[in-house]
Amino acid sequence: MNENFLVLLGLGNAARSEGKSLADQIDAILPQTQCTQCDFEGCRPYSQAIVSGEAEINQCPPGGQDGVDALAELLGQQTLPLNQTHGETKPKRIAKVDEKACIGCTLCIKACPVDAFVGSSKVMTQVIAQECTGCDLCLPVCPVDCIDMIESESYAKIPYEDSDQIYDALNQRQILERAIRDNSRERYQFHQARLERNKHERDELLKSKTIALKEKMAKDKSQKEKIEAAIQRVKDSKKNNETK
Ligand code: SF4
Ligand code: SF4
Ligand code: SF4
Repeated sequence: MNENFLVLLGLGNAARSEGKSLADQIDAILPQTQCTQCDFEGCRPYSQAIVSGEAEINQCPPGGQDGVDALAELLGQQTLPLNQTHGETKPKRIAKVDEKACIGCTLCIKACPVDAFVGSSKVMTQVIAQECTGCDLCLPVCPVDCIDMIESESYAKIPYEDSDQIYDALNQRQILERAIRDNSRERYQFHQARLERNKHERDELLKSKTIALKEKMAKDKSQKEKIEAAIQRVKDSKKNNETK
C-alpha cells in the first residue's frame, strides 16, 4: 500500500485516538501549507468546511491524491479524484529572495501566512527556509519579481530494508510529518491571532479618535455659539443706545 497515504491516515487516526474533534482529525491530515487553493483562508477553515458539508474532500492540491484518499478513509466515504480546478500538486518548494533585487517593501512579509520572512522596511528580506510551507502567496505581491520558488526535499524518507522494518519506518515518518505540520499550524495560528489583535487595536484607535473628534466638534460648536451670543449682545446694546 502507498506509504504516503498510510502516514497521512495515521495522522488523522492519531488525532481521533486523542479525542480530538472531527475538524481537528481532518486538519491533522491536511498539509498545513496554508495556500488557500482550496478556496478557504487556510487548512483549518477548509477542515471546518468539510465537516459542515460546505466543501468536498478533494480541494487540496498540496495534499495530493494521497491526501484525498486518507480523508475519505478517515470519514468512511468513497474517495474522489483530486479536483484539478483548485490547482495541481507540485513538488515541495520553498521561497528564495534575490537579495540584490529586493527593495525592502515588506509586502511579502505581510502576505506570508506563517511569518516565514525576516526583514523590515527598506531592509533586504530573507526567508527562513525551514518555516516556509511553499504556499506561493508571496510571489504575486512582490513588485520587482525577486522571489523564486526552489524545490526542496518533499517528505522525510526513512530507509528500511525488509517488511519487518516498514512499520518502524512509517512510524518515524509519521512523527516527523506531524512535527512539521504542528509547527506550520502553530505559526499560522500565531499569524492569524496577530492579524486579529492588530485589527482590534486599529478599531480601538479609530473609535477613540472618532470620540475625540466628536468632543472637539461639540466644544467648537459651543464656543461658536458663545461668540455669536456675545456679538448679538453687543449689537443689541448698540441698537438700544441709538434709540435712546
Ligand atoms: S494546503 Fe492549501 S489547499 Fe490544502 S487545505 Fe491547506 S490551505 Fe487549503
Ligand atoms: S515565504 Fe512565501 S512561499 Fe514561503 S510560506 Fe511565506 S508566503 Fe508562502
Ligand atoms: S515583496 Fe519583493 S521587494 Fe518587497 S520585500 Fe519582499 S522580496 Fe523584497
